[in-house]
Amino acid sequence: MPTFRTGSEEETIALGERLARWLPARGVVLLIGELGAGKTTLAKGIVEGLGAARPDEVSSPTFTLIHEYGGRRKVYHVDLYRIDHAREAARLGLDELFERDAVILIEWGERFPQLMPRERIEIRIEAGEGDQREIQVTKIGT
Ligand code: ADP
Ligand code: MG
Repeated sequence: MPTFRTGSEEETIALGERLARWLPARGVVLLIGELGAGKTTLAKGIVEGLGAARPDEVSSPTFTLIHEYGGRRKVYHVDLYRIDHAREAARLGLDELFERDAVILIEWGERFPQLMPRERIEIRIEAGEGDQREIQVTKIGT
């Protein structure tokens, strides 16, 4: 799978839009990277690329845990940052979410590997100098 480089927030949003065209119609996408890496920024682009909302309508679900976007084409954006225990995460009903006809974007999902589906896409974002980001896309379990 390819590795991409971006040099600004705008470029990462644009990359998200492009990736959206390549994503399967449904399935789970883990967005992996440190705080401030650009996971939510990339999610903005993906949500826009899927035609589910405009980037400025997409905010971090850090406190609300799950945001839902779209009409016919649904996108769920999940952030497990504030969840401390797998037991707590299990109560969110992720399994039921994973069965929906939707793209499910998850931040910090790698902290609970046992709750993630075997088949998924992982997008790793690493910060470099300044605004540089390296973004690596991997398909898992297929
Ligand atoms: P995360 O969800 O991974 O914690 P956010 O997307 O919320 O990160 O924040 C990323 C921060 O980094 C934003 O403040 C954004 O402006 C900044 N930034 C700088 N360069 C980039 C880049 N190339 N891609 C994405 N974000 C960038
Ligand atoms: Mg975030």
